[in-house]
Amino acid sequence: MLNPADDAFLSRLASDLPEGTLGPAEPRHLTEPRGRWIGQGALARPRSTEDVARIMAAAQAARVGVVPFSGGTGLVGGQIRPDGPAPVILSLERMAAVRRVRPDENVMEVEAGAILTSVHAAAEAAGRRFPLWLASQGSARIGGLLATNAGGLHVLRYGMARDLCLGVEAVLADGRVIHGLSRLRKDNTGYDLRHLLIGSEGTLGIITAASLRLFPAEGAVATALLTVPSPATALELLARAEARLPGQVSAFEIMSKVGFDFITEVIPDLSLPFTPPEWSVLIEIELAPDADADAAMAGLYMEADEAGLVSDGQIAASGPARDRLWHLREAIPDANRRIGAVSSHDISVPLAELPGFIATAGAAIAALGPLRVNAFGHLGDGNLHYNVFPPKGAAAQEFRHLRDAVKQTVHDLVDAAGGSVSAEHGIGRLKVGDLARYGDPAKLFAMRAIKAALDPSGILNPGAVLPEA
Ligand SMILES: Cc1cc2nc3c(=O)[nH]c(=O)nc-3n(C[C@H](O)[C@H](O)[C@H](O)COP(=O)(O)OP(=O)(O)OC[C@H]3O[C@@H](n4cnc5c(N)ncnc54)[C@H](O)[C@@H]3O)c2cc1C
Repeated sequence: MLNPADDAFLSRLASDLPEGTLGPAEPRHLTEPRGRWIGQGALARPRSTEDVARIMAAAQAARVGVVPFSGGTGLVGGQIRPDGPAPVILSLERMAAVRRVRPDENVMEVEAGAILTSVHAAAEAAGRRFPLWLASQGSARIGGLLATNAGGLHVLRYGMARDLCLGVEAVLADGRVIHGLSRLRKDNTGYDLRHLLIGSEGTLGIITAASLRLFPAEGAVATALLTVPSPATALELLARAEARLPGQVSAFEIMSKVGFDFITEVIPDLSLPFTPPEWSVLIEIELAPDADADAAMAGLYMEADEAGLVSDGQIAASGPARDRLWHLREAIPDANRRIGAVSSHDISVPLAELPGFIATAGAAIAALGPLRVNAFGHLGDGNLHYNVFPPKGAAAQEFRHLRDAVKQTVHDLVDAAGGSVSAEHGIGRLKVGDLARYGDPAKLFAMRAIKAALDPSGILNPGAVLPEA
């Protein structure tokens, strides 16, 4: 059983830390984007890895829980502890320095509290790019992005956060520091602790800094919003695009009419450039800087049109036009939030199973009640945000009683299709039960063993990912 971060513990800890490190949590540390949980706990805002180590050593000695907190944009409640003994909320916001940029090696070393957009800016200033791009990039910080192994809009070409990280510096539960800021691309010296910590959602250690991979500055880009007859044809279009432009398709997002209808319903200021079709895809290609990306996109469109894979579309003719297309895509989660979901699901299934999943899940949800489904997302990665809403004019609350049935229906179908019930958001507190239900038993055994070995008192983010001991 853990102890609370009470006044006696906090005053002992304060005497060991620079003044002003501890204080009361602000509302932003206690709330999360979907408003499902309200957090609790005392706030620690260390300025150095040594201070993080002191906090962890003291917390371990006193058996006090520690919840790591970066940008607070996580969507599964991992950064919030709503109940149990009050923890220390360990915010990395004061450790936000870009320590070093090495364009010659395409490596950058940053502290865990660096906000993603500032990492983008530092890479750009060195004539390079850090290609992790997601709608929360103005708030999400490197520590949280790595702890959740975030995905985003360019996974198809550049991979997930894990693929963009060469090494991490991290503090273990007892205050020991792993000095893993490698600049090496090859290093086979035993277990790769970087990959253990990435995606562990603060349950195995506190990431304090990371060395990140950089890429050349953006080449010639073309972006198009294309109308497709169905998800199956969208996948055929993706296959053609990848065959025609190998390794150059950088984003492939699917959107349904429901998402655009939601925008019209709740964000009327945002005018749509078309009458929303049943399905459309936002495709982006990136070629060498001197290539003609617009011509390449036009060629792809003509080939797809002849094959009956697209029926309409628009190719962005300028940077601002490209931004407008992306803005539309990024407005969909906002519209979803304003409508209010009965249940939201971040799922992935093998690509070939996607059309069947969309059809079967749609029929199964319709059998549960008069619900609306907005399925959209990173089709190129097999990752859909499959969200279920009340009928027009009704509030999600009125259909709350269906939430569990909706969730289980969707997740059972995902599982049957060989998919994952968390594609990119993680487990957090929201999906602890789902991991227990759908996870491979041997994998769960190994996860519990690793957690017990590295955090024997269970102080690191108690109740996240695995049930609290
Ligand atoms: C509008 C919006 C769009 C989004 N789009 C995407 C998307 O396209 N793709 C995607 O993958 N995700 C997306 N997300 C969610 C995504 O998980 C987060 O944006 C991001 O990965 C979390 O970073 P953060 O800094 O906010 O972390 P937080 O929310 O603060 O924390 C997330 C988790 O990491 C742990 N943690 C935080 N910092 C550390 C640390 N230094 N060491 C160890 N553990 C730590 C926390 O305890 C928690 O469990 C979106 C979120 C929003 C609000």
